[in-house]
Amino acid sequence: MINLYALTYAELTELLTGLGEPGFRAKQIWHWMYERRVERFDAMTNLPGATIAKLHAAAALGSLELVARQQSRDATEKRLYRLGDDQFIESVLMPYDDDRMTACISSQAGCAMGCVFCATGQMGFARNLTAGEIFEQAMVFARELHARGERLSNVVFMGMGEPFHNYAASLAAVRQLMHRLNIGARHITLSTVGLAPQIRRFADEGLQVNLAVSLHKTDDAQRSALMPVNRRWGIEGLLDACRYYVSRTNRRITFEWAAIAGENDTAEEAHRLGRLLAGLLCHINIIPLNPTGDYDGLPAQSASIKRFSDVLRRYGVASTVRVRRGIDIDAGCGQLKTAVLGGKPNGSATAAAKTAMGGEAADDLLR
Ligand code: SAH
Ligand code: SF4
Repeated sequence: MINLYALTYAELTELLTGLGEPGFRAKQIWHWMYERRVERFDAMTNLPGATIAKLHAAAALGSLELVARQQSRDATEKRLYRLGDDQFIESVLMPYDDDRMTACISSQAGCAMGCVFCATGQMGFARNLTAGEIFEQAMVFARELHARGERLSNVVFMGMGEPFHNYAASLAAVRQLMHRLNIGARHITLSTVGLAPQIRRFADEGLQVNLAVSLHKTDDAQRSALMPVNRRWGIEGLLDACRYYVSRTNRRITFEWAAIAGENDTAEEAHRLGRLLAGLLCHINIIPLNPTGDYDGLPAQSASIKRFSDVLRRYGVASTVRVRRGIDIDAGCGQLKTAVLGGKPNGSATAAAKTAMGGEAADDLLR
């Protein structure tokens, strides 16, 4: 079965020519897929029955198999999908009060970066997703929203995986979101653990896509303990890349700060962060930690978060506290898979070995 969402327009044309269909068919089908966003070939009402039968025989509208879904009290919806080769990924849809509908999508099955507080990091790396698999997660939400008269407005790459460790596919998916689903670059956000070379490369793309950088600590040794990738690109190298990004794009960077009680929510840490970022065009997103199985840190309390952002303000560094979405459904990515299937990466021995190796594996893969 050929997944039509994975095809470029040229590839779709080629497929249809191979099926003996006239040249204009690709345009019709493309329109049904991305403008009308239908879920089934039968709904493509201007196609002859014979064409629809050929499509049924040769192709499918999508490749993701829904395995589990959870809805939280705040209407956040989380999904677990099985991929063709028995890997698993998660996506989340988050409605906001101001009519925004944001999809949070995965870029890899698992993750090689080994951040100790992250459920995905704890399960290790399985494989990169293709651009089609990344794009399709948003496509599925866009299609369902369209059917009920709503629109997918924003996409964040904050699900499983490190998008800059799967750079080409992630960027290709970004372009598909823009061109096929009409989502403006300013409504798309890539979040990175801090791969400095890719931040520079991204700065040179000439895109208006938002960049979020997961910082979480101001001291190299302590950041390395939480996020092994810091051993390779330390804070100064990371901030150099961030300064390059800002100078090149004139766009504001968001720094993610997973606030962990007693770990990075103190006034002293806030002063260090303020000094580190003062003068840089940026914004801090403070997110109370979502507790995960293999990490015993706890979310920072609101009083310390308030003190933290008050200190930052004295340095002219703006921050917002992000509401923890879907807290009752473990909406931190990686957590649904862990709940449904256990924490190990799909029973694969090599991936399990990589998990056991934790950060060392990340270093190897990044070389
Ligand atoms: N790999 C990318 C994007 C996916 S993770 C990155 O690390 O940026 C998206 C965000 O969730 C990151 O800021 C990450 O640090 C944060 N995160 C991961 N586990 C978390 C947890 N248990 N609680 C709060 N935030 C978490
Ligand atoms: Fe990977 Fe991001 Fe999780 Fe770190 S926080 S392990 S980079 S998904």
